Amino acid sequence: MKYLFKILVTAGLLLAAAQPDCLAEQTGILFQYSTINALLSGRYDGDMRFAELARHGDFGIGTFNGLDGEMIALDGNFHQVTTDGRVSSVAPEAATPFAVVTFFHGDRSIPLPDGLDYQGVQKLLDTTITNHNLFQAVRIDGTFSEMTTRSVPAQKPPYLPLATVVAKQAVFHCKKIAGTLIGFATPNYVAGLNVPGYHFHFLSADRQQGGHVLELRTTSGRITLSEMRTFTMTLPAAADFATVDLRGPRRQEMEKVEKKRN
Ligand code: ZN
Repeated sequence: MKYLFKILVTAGLLLAAAQPDCLAEQTGILFQYSTINALLSGRYDGDMRFAELARHGDFGIGTFNGLDGEMIALDGNFHQVTTDGRVSSVAPEAATPFAVVTFFHGDRSIPLPDGLDYQGVQKLLDTTITNHNLFQAVRIDGTFSEMTTRSVPAQKPPYLPLATVVAKQAVFHCKKIAGTLIGFATPNYVAGLNVPGYHFHFLSADRQQGGHVLELRTTSGRITLSEMRTFTMTLPAAADFATVDLRGPRRQEMEKVEKKRN
C-alpha cells in the first residue's frame, strides 16, 4: 500500500511538472497595457514584451517601444507597420508602450455595405452596437475601393508628445485593396485610459500594407463584433511612470493624434 502511494505521488508530481504554462483563452476580456494619456505624454518605452501580450489576446492594436510604427494583431500573428510602409512580423522579445488586445470570438456579424466612407462605417456601427457602455472588438473583413492609413516615425529620447510626433506621420493611400480592419469601440467613460469611440488599424489580405486607419471607402465584406464586459489593465513597472501626468481626457490632443491627415 505504501509502495502504491509512493507511485501515485510520484506520478502526480510528474504530471504537475509536465503541465505547460498556459493561460486559457478567455473570451470577453479586453486587456490593455498602459494608458493612452501616458502615450500622449511621450512615454514610448514599455516593459510589456509581445510574448507576454500574446497571452492576453490574438487580436488587437498598439505600437512599439520608441513609437516604431503601428501594431496589428490578427489571428494570433503580430505585425509591425513602419513609416517606410513595410509590414513585418513582431519578435516575441520586442516590447510595447501601449497595446489593446482580446481573444476575438465574434458573437454577431452583418454585411458591410458598398460605398461607405470611414464616417459611414462608424455610423453603421453606432446603430449596430446595442450597448455602447460595453467594449466591442470589431473585425471588418472586406474589399475597399480606397484605404488611407498612416504610421508613426520611430523616436529617440528625449521624447516629444505624441501630437507633435504625429505631425511627421507617413500616410499611405491604397486603391482596390482586400484586407481586415482590426479595432475597438470603447465607451466614452474610459477617456484618459483608452481612445473613446472607434479606433481601427488595417492589414491587407497579402500582409503587405497596413497602418492606423485615417479614411476608407468600402466595396463589400462583413463586420463581426465581439462584446467584452471585462476590462483588465496592466500598468508599467518602471519608476519613471510615477512622474507622468495622466490627468484629464485630453480630447483635442486625441483628435489630432487619431484622426488628423497631413
Ligand atoms: Zn492607432
